[in-house]
Amino acid sequence: RTFSAAWTALDWPNAKKQANLVRSWGIKQLLEIWNKAKGKEADAMLWGDEVEYLVVSYSEQDPKVLLSLKQADILEALEHDKGLSEKANGQNGSSPQTSQPPPVFHPEFGRFMLEATPGKPWGIEFKELLEVEPNMKLRRRIAKEHMLPNEYPITLTTFPRLGSPGVFTDPSYPVSGPKLRSQFVPDEIANPHIRFPTLAANIRSRRGRKVQVNVPVFRDEKTPWPWRDPTVNYDLHQWPEDDDVRNGAAPDNFIHMDAMAFGMGSCCLQITFQAKNLTEGRQMYDQLSPLGPILLALTAATPIYKGFLADTDVRWNQISNAVDDRTPEELGEKPLVNDRWRIPKSRYASNSTYISEDARLRPEYLDPDLVIDEDIKQQLLDGGMDDRLATHFAHLFIRDPIVIFSEDLKELDLSKTDHFENIQSTNWQHMRFKPPPADNSIGWRVEFRSMEVQITDFENAAFAVFIVLITRVILSYNLNFYIPITKVDENMQTAHARDAVLTRRFYFRRNLFPTTRAARSSASGASTPSTAASRPPTPTGPVENEYRLMSINEIINGTAYAKATAAVAATAANRGDDPSSQTDAVDKDEEDEFPGLIPLVESYLDSVNVDVDTRCRLATYLDLIRKRASGELWTAARWIRQFVARHPEYQKDSVVGDKITKDLVAAVIRVGELEARGEAFRDVPEVEGFLRELR
Ligand code: ADP
Ligand code: MG
Ligand code: MG
Ligand code: MG
Ligand code: MG
Ligand code: MG
Repeated sequence: RTFSAAWTALDWPNAKKQANLVRSWGIKQLLEIWNKAKGKEADAMLWGDEVEYLVVSYSEQDPKVLLSLKQADILEALEHDKGLSEKANGQNGSSPQTSQPPPVFHPEFGRFMLEATPGKPWGIEFKELLEVEPNMKLRRRIAKEHMLPNEYPITLTTFPRLGSPGVFTDPSYPVSGPKLRSQFVPDEIANPHIRFPTLAANIRSRRGRKVQVNVPVFRDEKTPWPWRDPTVNYDLHQWPEDDDVRNGAAPDNFIHMDAMAFGMGSCCLQITFQAKNLTEGRQMYDQLSPLGPILLALTAATPIYKGFLADTDVRWNQISNAVDDRTPEELGEKPLVNDRWRIPKSRYASNSTYISEDARLRPEYLDPDLVIDEDIKQQLLDGGMDDRLATHFAHLFIRDPIVIFSEDLKELDLSKTDHFENIQSTNWQHMRFKPPPADNSIGWRVEFRSMEVQITDFENAAFAVFIVLITRVILSYNLNFYIPITKVDENMQTAHARDAVLTRRFYFRRNLFPTTRAARSSASGASTPSTAASRPPTPTGPVENEYRLMSINEIINGTAYAKATAAVAATAANRGDDPSSQTDAVDKDEEDEFPGLIPLVESYLDSVNVDVDTRCRLATYLDLIRKRASGELWTAARWIRQFVARHPEYQKDSVVGDKITKDLVAAVIRVGELEARGEAFRDVPEVEGFLRELR
């Protein structure tokens, strides 16, 4: 939605007073759309991706690469470009019969960020999967054309020196503005639209202190130990929040960050699916949930924060902490007096609910400690919603609305969903269940949100296409990925470890297939989707027997392939730099066979009509994912670590300085230029280990 610049965003004390009103109107709007849309049938199988970019200011002559704060100018230039539609239908590789509207560019939290989506969602045809990569390249090219010659859209998840001492933005501003009150980043780092600074300020205000984003530092040979973040200033006295670091906000051995921008300034790759109806949407939400952490580890791309190597590979927990608005009471640090609940997770976290009425969803899979608002649940039940979905929304609605515009509070408008969306869209979970909009013009959608953005569009397309294919396999074979939701949480934490893709094991369901004989034979017969008639009886037996620890190699490629490539993975995991690195990812011989997701995708593709050319090109995407899971190819996180480790300026002290950052960004820009020209990555020294073996 768009916001008028003249609107008044309430500060926290005033917003808090209106929280109950916003929640109650939000629930009424939800019930309105629920009753309108619950019977919607036969919506088309559509999907769409979102790619986020950092904008950097780079030139060979300048000693530093900087973040460019030109979001507004770039978006304005895009908006006023009358030729966009021709560009979208020019030489971008899209088939001439499907005219594609121009890509859509969106603002994001960081004033150095952009987001781009396709002009319209993708359809069900396999051929359309091949349009994704050219379309992503088109978006990148169009974005670049609306920037200054020295500005580039790049898809690193984070800018390595965001928040480092000295100048890191173009233009530069002094730190410690009134909204963020950060020691490290100026208020001007955020999109200036009143919504964004208010979001940051009200989160800080609700918490009663600044957000605390502490990432374990990577301990290299010459890293002083214990390590104390040398960029923290203990002597500031401008804001009350300057006391935070004197009160222990910055513990030893952690990189310390104190503002929303350190999390929400990261870039990701999201995929939204439209289901044919409510039931299928709820099934997709549940079945994709356990894949979130696996895909997070596979796309790992975030090894540097604030100029230091981190001991983690992904962005997730940092965003979670960067928008954690919980009070000391909610965090369990003080007895509950003013607040209603202890809340175990940030409002940005892995999801805590399953929502399907699938008979295979055993009560044991649900979170026994789920916090919900009972009154809200009762209102939803009274309004005709079933228990499970009412529980889901009553869980999301334990949160306060953070940004409230007083103009929205005049009267309840049931032809809108603004109050519902206020709560829904600030529950940043790794899956999002998206009801239709107020006009009911589109269907029930499910968003897969855990993936890190990849450096090249080849990779971004590969991961998008992989998730689409997995979703088709899930629906065609009626696969069952259920494990207890708390195990999904554990997996999410596991995914943070350095090289988790190679060195860790994740809880995963042993048998994905429906358990009745009829259902099993229909699944292995490949082409017959199972139907409600083959719905298996409710399973029994200990839940713990249904899942086990597996390496990502085993999950993605299957037991046989994982065994065959175990040596590769072990070597890759220990390659040179880090003799201390442990691996528990050895797949044990006595365990039962697991087929692997890629072999399942392949048998699905065998069973449907895909032309040879399409199949070959899909194979290049599957190959990337297969090899990344086995360690034959590196994650971006590993590649970046290697790049830093080998840089002549690197002192083995975990510090990623300006020159290293500049050269890293230069390499990323060069990779992007090679990709735009369609050149192979072979023989390109910049991509050693990472993409070189491809295409
Ligand atoms: P948000 O930021 O709230 O997730 P965006 O509009 O940025 O939403 O992105 C939503 C994605 O969903 C885009 O890729 C868009 O193409 C896609 N999309 C839009 N309409 C549909 C639909 N009916 N079904 C599936 N995907 C859709
Ligand atoms: Mg978006
Ligand atoms: Mg968004
Ligand atoms: Mg976004
Ligand atoms: Mg999204
Ligand atoms: Mg790695």
